[in-house]
Amino acid sequence: MNKKVVVFSQIDPEILTRLKAQYHVVVIDPKQGDVNQQIQQHVQDADGMIGAGRLLNQSNLATAQQLKIISSVSVGYDNYDVDYLNQKNIWLSHTPHVLTETTADLAFTLLMSAARKVPYLDHWTKSGEWKRTVSQAQFGQDIHGKTLGIIGLGNIGAAIARRGLYGFNMNILYHNRREKLEMAQPLNAQYRSLEQLLQESDFVVVAVDLNAESKALLSTEQFDLMQSHAVFVNIARGSVIDEQALIQALKDHKFFAAGLDVYEKEPLQTSELFQLDNVVTLPHVGSATAETRKKMAELAYRNLVDALDGRQPRYLVNPDF
Ligand code: NAP
Repeated sequence: MNKKVVVFSQIDPEILTRLKAQYHVVVIDPKQGDVNQQIQQHVQDADGMIGAGRLLNQSNLATAQQLKIISSVSVGYDNYDVDYLNQKNIWLSHTPHVLTETTADLAFTLLMSAARKVPYLDHWTKSGEWKRTVSQAQFGQDIHGKTLGIIGLGNIGAAIARRGLYGFNMNILYHNRREKLEMAQPLNAQYRSLEQLLQESDFVVVAVDLNAESKALLSTEQFDLMQSHAVFVNIARGSVIDEQALIQALKDHKFFAAGLDVYEKEPLQTSELFQLDNVVTLPHVGSATAETRKKMAELAYRNLVDALDGRQPRYLVNPDF
């Protein structure tokens, strides 16, 4: 009998077709009722799962009898309970590297949009406000030659730093839990404590993975350290910052502007952020280009097939359980 695969989010249609040709595929569909109930029901005799953006933990995986792998179409894996998967001998795979440059592009898009007030000026122009030459209220901040502070100099953080260094002649600072000389040296990036980085940077970009130590890493105390002309960008995960503290800091104009791709609760339907001119909000689109989403789907498919064929997938989060 064909192995059973549960698809728990929308995935690339071509990959879905391929999966259907190989396996007994069940697609979880929010239109068919409670998603967690559907997962609990179908995971019982499933061999593999593939998808992204859903919380998978003990409460919806407890019934799994023969689940070998969850193949996540993402690099971040904070929505999976890895300890529980280890207990149950379930592999978790993800899709690093293929999305690094695309996500760094988006981080820079946010940085530039916030610094040069792009959404505000677009709205201002289209609504007929351009009656005379622009003045102070429309002025932005220079980017070239400034200091860029990266919190989390990993794959994406380094790709953002490269854009800053080679594209904009920026001076690079970084903060990780420990120094990363092999990554920092080619970028001429200087290590700083979190506090020093926030005080010295003109641009602060958060690119850490969400883990126990990075959760709520930035709150009022940290935002208070930033310079009044600084720009803050978060492309990591919403829960790395205290969102209410960020909203207050933006309302109080503690720094110049922010650019956000991620939020504590997604999708973000209502928020005080929507009332603020000094923040650019995007709907978690860091990796969302046609080419990159295709590569991620392809890699996630490969991870799944490898596991179901008895081979160890290349990109495992928990290779040794
Ligand atoms: P990565 O290569 O693992 O880099 C993450 C970096 O964060 C590591 O260098 C890690 O270094 C550092 N870090 C972790 N905890 C930290 C802490 N408490 N303080 C300071 N630094 C810390 O991962 P990546 O591929 O660059 O991806 C990073 C994250 O970006 C993903 O996990 C995901 O959540 C997010 N992401 C978002 C989008 C989007 O659409 N917006 C797209 C892709 C990825 P140390 O362990 O040495 O501290």
